[in-house]
Amino acid sequence: MKMEQLYSGKAKTIYMTDDPTKLISQFRDSLTAFDGKKKSEIAKKGYCNAQISRKIYEMLETKGIKTHLIEMISDTEMLVHAVEIIKLEVIVRNIAAGSITRKYPVKEGTIFKNPIVSFDYKSDEYGDPMLNEDIAVALGISTYEDIEQIRNIALKINRILVEYLDKRGLLLPDFKLEFGHKDGEILLADEISCDTCRFWDKKTGESLDKDIFRFDKGDLSKAYEEVARRIVPEIFE
Ligand code: UDP
Repeated sequence: MKMEQLYSGKAKTIYMTDDPTKLISQFRDSLTAFDGKKKSEIAKKGYCNAQISRKIYEMLETKGIKTHLIEMISDTEMLVHAVEIIKLEVIVRNIAAGSITRKYPVKEGTIFKNPIVSFDYKSDEYGDPMLNEDIAVALGISTYEDIEQIRNIALKINRILVEYLDKRGLLLPDFKLEFGHKDGEILLADEISCDTCRFWDKKTGESLDKDIFRFDKGDLSKAYEEVARRIVPEIFE
């Protein structure tokens, strides 16, 4: 049973339930970029992202990745395990795009021989600065053991996703993951969607993700729906 709101983020609202071990994650149509400086509402965005994320989490579960997903309770609402979120944004990169091309001498589109995993401190107050293992441990954000495990899970997810998306005509330049603790285990939390991944069409190289919104590159609803059509075609039947 849905009870009071626990937290409302930029794109999702989290509700408590009558079971303290379970929460409801509702995907909304709101969208922000550049630390919340750019905002909008896009019809069907919440629906597309919820369905894409659900399908990817179900697929990952079949490959041995533990996620917080329990089940969908509506088109845009996921019942999830309550986890203690680890305050790290885990970024995996296969092709150079976004911040790495602004901060380092690497051109957009450069294919990395090995995937890159990096960590940002999940903190609106400090603007999500990049950190390394030593900083994360020194600040009490995580432990060396957990970070190593998270890195390995992130790389496994990357291998699975690259292959899965390739079959659906999509390249995966980069994406962001979040993890949480539950009963001594590390679970994949948050979402994997057009808001948290870069998806490029394999044939045209066109962005089918939040970069459309960040840089006014076209019709975001159409692009998110296109990704949903490739990943969850059954919802369009
Ligand atoms: N990302 C995210 N949330 C964040 C930061 C990054 O979902 O707070 C995702 C982003 O959509 C992209 C990847 O992580 O797929 C790498 O983002 P990047 O560091 O390039 O930042 P950006 O250029 O998007 O500011």
